[in-house]
Amino acid sequence: MESRSSRPLGKVRSIALVFTLSLLTIGFYAVYWWYKVNDEVRKHDPEIEVRPWLSAIAFSIFGTIFLFIPTIVTVYRTARRICEMQRHCRVKRILDPDRVVWLYITSWLSIPLLFFFAPLCFILYFFFVADIQDNLNDHWKWHRRMQAVERSKTGQEKAA
Ligand SMILES: [Zn+2]
Repeated sequence: MESRSSRPLGKVRSIALVFTLSLLTIGFYAVYWWYKVNDEVRKHDPEIEVRPWLSAIAFSIFGTIFLFIPTIVTVYRTARRICEMQRHCRVKRILDPDRVVWLYITSWLSIPLLFFFAPLCFILYFFFVADIQDNLNDHWKWHRRMQAVERSKTGQEKAA
């Protein structure tokens, strides 16, 4: 059986940078980020099936044409994939897909509902990005630590 520790790891990203770049590029970076999130999970966990470019399309402006339905579906399914990957690797931290979906939906709902308090949409969107990226960052860092432990163990064996 292939050791989980040798699987490709994703990139540790700054949440603030993902958020800021998404705003500055009027969403283009967000779509790229969504592609990378799904691609990293797919490469890391071969049991997870996903076509990252389809997720990216659903997350893009095309999703809004269809009343956000594809977008909400990809948000939920991506969060579920991260959750599945975390379970497969037996880490303690497990993402809550329902919370991710609610953060995403309320970030958009707050625009028409709270017209005079539109900044709330940015705050909620920030939490949405943070929830996803922080879970991933933790996961990749956890694997790096495990790899370091394994390396030092094999190093000791060789030295003995
Ligand atoms: Zn893992």
